[in-house]
Amino acid sequence: RFDNIRPKIEKHIREVKDFPKKGINFRDIMPLFTNPQLVNELCVVIADHVRHSVGHVDSVAGLEARGFLIGPLVAIQLGVPFVPIRKKGKLPGAVIEASYVKEYGEDIVEVQEGAIKNGEIVFLIDDLLATGGTLRAATDLVVKAGGKVGEAFVIIELAPLNGRAKLTDVKLTTLISYD
Ligand code: AMP
Repeated sequence: RFDNIRPKIEKHIREVKDFPKKGINFRDIMPLFTNPQLVNELCVVIADHVRHSVGHVDSVAGLEARGFLIGPLVAIQLGVPFVPIRKKGKLPGAVIEASYVKEYGEDIVEVQEGAIKNGEIVFLIDDLLATGGTLRAATDLVVKAGGKVGEAFVIIELAPLNGRAKLTDVKLTTLISYD
């Protein structure tokens, strides 16, 4: 399903060396948004993939910040709610949180209470999988809220960081994988 769009998306990903700090190869998806037709095509293809390979989902949950760029567009395609998952302290009102211990410090993500209802199936989306900590915390959060992750989807996977190993209990789909 993704074979046709993959090379087109690849051309719109910019590599920025040493950002945000030395040694990190930042994969910038912003050039994609200079091409609205391609963004639309991508969201249509992801939505088709959800319909055919994931099945019924109750919502699309996107991770701050770049999961907010694609997630709502996919949710519109599917005609389901978009659920924002944000870093601690950003969402107003009652929230549920999940944490993930990183090499240095802790990552805490939150979702608003009631955004995911008991038994709901959630399609999780973000731009990139690196160590997998973010998606791990997001998955735990969905489960804590009473939901189930139908699939986690990222545009880019940084394969050598082996984030997949942290998500063995989740169906994971990645569009582009870098070595
Ligand atoms: P991780 O929790 O290590 O899997 O990191 C994934 C999160 O960090 C995603 O939300 C990405 O947006 C961001 N991220 C990590 N590494 C990179 C990278 N090399 N280029 C762009 N974004 C990155």
